[in-house]
Amino acid sequence: MRVGIGYDIHRLVAGRPLVLGGVTIPFEKGLLGHSDADVLVHAACDALLGAAGLGDIGRWFPDTDPRYKNVYSITLLRECRRMIGEQGYTLVNMDATVFAEAPRLANHHEGMRRTMAAALETDEGRINIKATTTEGLGQVGAGEGMAAMCVVLLEDARL
Ligand code: MG
Repeated sequence: MRVGIGYDIHRLVAGRPLVLGGVTIPFEKGLLGHSDADVLVHAACDALLGAAGLGDIGRWFPDTDPRYKNVYSITLLRECRRMIGEQGYTLVNMDATVFAEAPRLANHHEGMRRTMAAALETDEGRINIKATTTEGLGQVGAGEGMAAMCVVLLEDARL
């Protein structure tokens, strides 16, 4: 068994779509980044790569590479799944929390879960998505950005 952790944060700005867990969510602002800035999927990628001992998302998908300009981050998650599979690992479970003051994300948890499970070619029951506000505290609480944390457990399919 191998455990991995991922964390990411992106700034919220006007004029960008809000994409979280691969789902476009109606909101007046979106996350700023070289890719679609899907903070949840980036945290998930880092957790998967970390668990497999493969470094981090910036190593494989650098934000200086024009190929990843505005890329749909679910494609990166799919690539991470392929990479951990090549190392002989399969996902036992993933648990993630999104930190966002607004909008309310509860209605979107299932869509994100379904989208991420499909990208990971796994059962939805192995993926759990949560969201919390930060009670108005800090930069996330002020609505300046969103953050996400993710933990995964992998098993060695070769054992
Ligand atoms: Mg990121």
